[in-house]
Formats: sequence, C-alpha cells, structure tokens
Amino acid sequence: MRITALAGGTGAAKLLRGLAACLGPGELTVVGNVGDDAEVWGLHVSPDLDTVTYALAGLLDTGRGWGRADESFRCLEGMAGYGAPTWFTLGDRDLATHLVRTQALRAGRPLSAVTADIAARLRVAARILPASDDPVRTTIVTPDGRLGFQEYFVRDKALAEVVAVEYGSAARARPAAGVLEAIAHADRVVVCPSNPVTSIGPIVAVPGIADALGAARARVVGVSPIVGGAAVSGPAGALMRACGLPVSPLGVARAYAPWLGALLVDPRDAALAAALEADGVRAVVAEVVMTDRAREVALARAVLAA
Ligand code: GDP
Repeated sequence: MRITALAGGTGAAKLLRGLAACLGPGELTVVGNVGDDAEVWGLHVSPDLDTVTYALAGLLDTGRGWGRADESFRCLEGMAGYGAPTWFTLGDRDLATHLVRTQALRAGRPLSAVTADIAARLRVAARILPASDDPVRTTIVTPDGRLGFQEYFVRDKALAEVVAVEYGSAARARPAAGVLEAIAHADRVVVCPSNPVTSIGPIVAVPGIADALGAARARVVGVSPIVGGAAVSGPAGALMRACGLPVSPLGVARAYAPWLGALLVDPRDAALAAALEADGVRAVVAEVVMTDRAREVALARAVLAA
C-alpha cells in the first residue's frame, strides 16, 4: 500500500510514527512543509522536515516535540557568550544536521537530495520529500509589520495579533521532484493533524500540488488538528481566525476544499458530521488526540481504514 502524507511538525510526527508502525518499508512517502524554514547563525534550518525525520528515526525529543532526545546546548551557551541571538534553540546534535544541510546546499545540492541523505543516514525507512526545493517562506502580517514564521512563533511566542498570512514565495516555487507523482500514485493521501495555515497551507500553495490533490485517484483523508473548538496545541486557532476560517473541523475542511474527501474528527465534534457532509467531506469519528504510542498506531489504523 502506497501512502503519501502531507505533514507539518509536531502533530504530524505522532501520526507518522503510527503510520510507519503499520506499513512496510518503502510504503510511506512524506511531503513536508518548508514554509517555516529559517536561517539561524548562517545555517539553513528546516524545523518541520527535521521533526518528521527525527520522529521516524526514533531520535525525537518527544517531551518537547522538536529537536533530538539526549541533547545538550553547549554551542548555544557559547553563542550567547558572543551576544548572538539565542531565541531559536538549537541543540548540539541537532546542529550537526543543520551544518550538513547547509554545506550541501552551498555545494549546489537541492534540499530534497540533502533531506533524503539525512534520512538515510538516520535509517529512516520512509521517503521524506520537501514540498519544494525552492525557497518557501510563510509571512505573518501583524499590525506592526511582517514576520517570518519563526519570529512570530518562537521569538514572539505567537502573541502578536495576526492580520493575514502570506505565501508569496510559495507561489513562485515548483514542487520538488517526486511530489506530484507521490500524490498521483498513492493508494491513500493523508493530511496529518498539522496547522492548516502554516504547515499544510504553504505545501498546497506551491503551484501544482493542490491540482494534484484534486486529481489524485486515491481518497484524501485528513485528521483534524482542531478538537472541541481549539487546537490540540500551538497557534492554529488564532491563525485560522485571522484567515477567516472557523476554529473547528469545518474550518479545517474549508481550508482543504475542494480536494479533501474525508476528515477524522474527535468524538467531541461528532455533532459536526452533518455539516461536514453538506460541505462534501465525509466525517469519520475517531480518537484523534494521540497521547501515547498506542493511540498513534490506533489513529493510523483508523486513517488507513477510513
Ligand atoms: P508545528 O509545525 O510544530 O506546528 O507542527 P504541526 O503543524 O504538525 O502541528 C501542530 C498542529 O497539530 C496543531 O494545530 C495541533 O492542534 C495539532 N496536534 C498536535 N498534537 C495532536 C494530536 O495528538 N491530535 C490531533 N488531532 N492534533 C494534534
């Protein structure tokens, strides 16, 4: 069974671990978000690709939901001593990933090739593709100016009022090699529980990807990151509101129209099933909050069965 999953970071990582546990090697392809990539200390950081890679390699710090387990922060201390900005926390082992990536990019290799190399080195069985090899940078527009996603989310702790979210550079990007084929040839396309605005939005803003989802022969099945009127974690609620979307599975379905076929929703949102069906999306009620490995696998099974 060939599964292609669109993924952000922390929420996606949990479902992807569950899917990987249910699938054979080579059956899972991940199309990852690069809209929140950032340059830190001169290094190219791809937080969502790294979260997914570390999760599938069994190396993720599951408490934080990002970075590597068994991590130290000596370089960060050293950088603080030089007065360098330290609001974006990079661990020592994690730095190795960014050094290897940056070196390869400077040598002219595409991000997709570097991402594959890193995943192979870390013995990840799944194929991890960035949505694009071209720069895609989500811009958060606030009353006081424009922010990169990491400035908004990490530095300013998602406290700024959001006026709009822009994917200007995504509109000029091309899908990375293999992305459109992975969507077209999948037996199932999965949209992980991820921030619809800043994780899935930048993926489908890359020209060609939304069309491929619409034309896919497989059903596109999503998992709602919104449960009981709020995001399970993070700023998805505020960002959806800023984009004029209701903070509910209905807003998720609207963000993924017209290509979403089915959406897994929490039992607390079961009453929205009829409204989802009216929007052309089949609602599947399931336990969508993943609090441990058993729930990750159970949700993955529900996604595969939906
Ligand atoms: P980010 O880049 O780290 O923000 O990663 P994602 O976009 O993948 O994850 C954030 C989204 O995942 C948030 O909108 C959360 O509400 C959602 N999320 C996190 N954990 C879970 C979970 O266990 N179940 C569901 N359904 N959603 C989750």
